[in-house]
Amino acid sequence: MKQLIDQLRNEHRLSGEDYRTLLQADDAETTTYLQQEAHRTALAHFGPEIYIRGLIEIGNRCRNNCLYCGIRKGNPSVARYGLSRDTILDCCRQGYVLGFRTFVLQGGEDPVQTDDWVEQTVAVIRQEFPDCAITLSLGEKSCEAYERFFRAGANRYLLRHETFNEAHYRHLHPAEMSPLHRRQCLQDLKDIGYQTGTGIMVGSPGQTLDHLVEDLLFIESFRPEMIGIGPFLPHHATPFAHEPAGSLELTLKLLSIFRLMHPTALIPATTALASLTPDGRERGILAGANVVMPNLSPSGERSKYALYDHKAAFGSEAAEGLQLLARQLERIGYRISTDRGDYRTEPVDYRTTSANSRPE
Ligand code: SAM
Repeated sequence: MKQLIDQLRNEHRLSGEDYRTLLQADDAETTTYLQQEAHRTALAHFGPEIYIRGLIEIGNRCRNNCLYCGIRKGNPSVARYGLSRDTILDCCRQGYVLGFRTFVLQGGEDPVQTDDWVEQTVAVIRQEFPDCAITLSLGEKSCEAYERFFRAGANRYLLRHETFNEAHYRHLHPAEMSPLHRRQCLQDLKDIGYQTGTGIMVGSPGQTLDHLVEDLLFIESFRPEMIGIGPFLPHHATPFAHEPAGSLELTLKLLSIFRLMHPTALIPATTALASLTPDGRERGILAGANVVMPNLSPSGERSKYALYDHKAAFGSEAAEGLQLLARQLERIGYRISTDRGDYRTEPVDYRTTSANSRPE
């Protein structure tokens, strides 16, 4: 098995059959070696530094009805909200003072927050924060809308493909949604020039080993600049309320495989991972992640953006808990970087980029 891991580390690719073999191996020696090599690869490229992104959940209204998602249209118990542009700007201002240089605007596909509204919102953030990156995660839009957001100043876009397999995609989504359309959106984003992120939920209902191999091969060939991977977690008011959560071990294993596949990709230790287990974030970092996304949303709204039950949104998962996060990272030998943390193909010289990396 070590040979396969070495091959992945050196060549950044494996055959489908070899990915399958690696995923099936669950002995301690393989797991330890895979994580160790992924951790070393992340350290070689980024040093002991973790990029922070301020996550602003701009609204929970959604026209979609994804079966796994707590804010799906068909959940009548959600208290719906949409942040105003002024509130979003206030979040950015608070985040800037704390040291954030990336703002991630995430939300449902909201018919009220129109393309015009998003474009103008991006433009005002861009004007006030010329040195910051703006990341959007607002779902499937027309190519023209993506272009307008880009021209207004957005730099990055997160859109998980969720699962490559058509039948599995249809098991997770209503009939009007299509995996081909989602992947077309991803291609549009890349073509426009966004740093593009995609990814999956581990352990989503109906997911098989074959599906994961398809996901690995897709991400290998798509070469996203960012890879979002976290466990599926059930939400009590969805059709998947009684499905089991995704496994921590498999999530970490996939994270490590992605790190060896794309050494310079930006890979977060996700909120879902931190929600699954108290030391999930640290374990994600030790498995090869190099980004965390503390919550910068107004605290009164955070509980309304419940994609799954028991979502971590306070303490070190919150922007205001940055010092706590810094202490937790320090315990595993890392520090926060306030660098904007764009995708780069060359290793980062972390000795020169981290002069201001410790928040006061
Ligand atoms: N609407 C945008 C979109 O579709 O990309 C962004 C918001 S969406 C809620 C963000 C991500 O949350 C999804 O891509 C999905 O992978 C994740 N998510 C939703 N429900 C989840 C659940 N029950 N467990 C884990 N992750 C979930």
